[in-house]
Amino acid sequence: MSRQPKEPAKLNSVNDLRKTMDGYFSRLREADETKNKKIAWCTSVGPAELLYSMGFEVYFPENHGAMLGAGKMADKYIPVAVAQGYSPDICSYLTSDIGAFLLNETPLQKSGFKSVPRPDVLVFNTNQCKEVDDWLSFYARHFKAPVLGISTPLSIKELSSNIINAVAGQIKDLVPELEKISGVKFDIDKYRETTRLSHDGCALWREVLETAKHKPSPINFFDSAIHMGPIVVMRGTQYAVDYYKILLAELEEKVRNNSGSLPKEQFRIYWDGMPLWYKLSGMSKLFAGLDTCIVASTYCNSWVFDDLDPADPFGSAAYAYSKLFIVRTDEKKEIVLQNLLADFSCNGIIYHDSKTCSRNSNNRFGLQNRLFEKTKIPFLEINGDLCDSRCYSEEQSITAIETFIDQLAVHV
Ligand code: SF4
Repeated sequence: MSRQPKEPAKLNSVNDLRKTMDGYFSRLREADETKNKKIAWCTSVGPAELLYSMGFEVYFPENHGAMLGAGKMADKYIPVAVAQGYSPDICSYLTSDIGAFLLNETPLQKSGFKSVPRPDVLVFNTNQCKEVDDWLSFYARHFKAPVLGISTPLSIKELSSNIINAVAGQIKDLVPELEKISGVKFDIDKYRETTRLSHDGCALWREVLETAKHKPSPINFFDSAIHMGPIVVMRGTQYAVDYYKILLAELEEKVRNNSGSLPKEQFRIYWDGMPLWYKLSGMSKLFAGLDTCIVASTYCNSWVFDDLDPADPFGSAAYAYSKLFIVRTDEKKEIVLQNLLADFSCNGIIYHDSKTCSRNSNNRFGLQNRLFEKTKIPFLEINGDLCDSRCYSEEQSITAIETFIDQLAVHV
């Protein structure tokens, strides 16, 4: 039965979030315009701590891709990249970002940028996917800037010392190259400090997400997808730590007051897969109208790198960035999901099969059925995409979601 969409409660911290993100973009713009600092482009789960410790301003093209998706601009740009030989089936962050660049358009122009900031170096880690190498290599060719990479094995079952040492060695190997580019001598104490800040920011981010264990949850997935901005782009800085203290204080207050994110919370769902950036607001209201809170997600949990340790910055970075969910075997992923479903008291799980991101679509090799066998927690699969709205059938998905929630009512 169809129900009316409702408006979830707004978080007051959104004003501080805006200020924190504006500050980040101002620093980047200043570096781009005045050349007072070098600029490194980095993949979202790349070695941000090392780059910040060596004085770079750090720009994340995936964050830009998400902005294009959320701004509903990706459909215009993807065909431009496709015309240059990039398949419409590959990462739509990549295709929308490159397409926008080729048209010299960016939402950053609203923040005073002429174009995306010019890179002095581009650094990737293939822990998430191979696409990031091709993506940054496009820009390396265009800007004639060096591209440096860390190759992490995928589908890791056990995190052996061989793997950790090999990845740590690759992070160390970046240092002399980055010294040449930045003109800054590597300082282990500065790296320890950015590692500590990253650890502290990630630990706060975990606490933020864990407030959703409370019934009713003070936050939902659609809020978290917006409020994760600082942990993605300012990991390793005081700015992220300061922001998450503010957000956590607000959420703890809501927990004390039993003030939920939704007008009414009847069902608690886990979201696996990417957000549909162009539908964030609509989905948030849809689920609120169904009295359903999405309390936990693989996506937002992916930035909890609290294994980072200033006592061993290289080794702990290798460990934290290889322990990541997306890098592991299905067997390991099932254990993580099983624990999260229990910890957050979830009644159901929704898998978003994202057309252009196979690495973040975990329902393609039977995991959803195996997990159901173990937990008996019902699941729903919806087809869509992170940025390419042409892959998403809204009417069909809404009907499927409403039917799924109606069926949950029988179990709860
Ligand atoms: S993990 Fe998926 S969304 Fe992220 S860069 Fe790779 S292909 Fe794109």
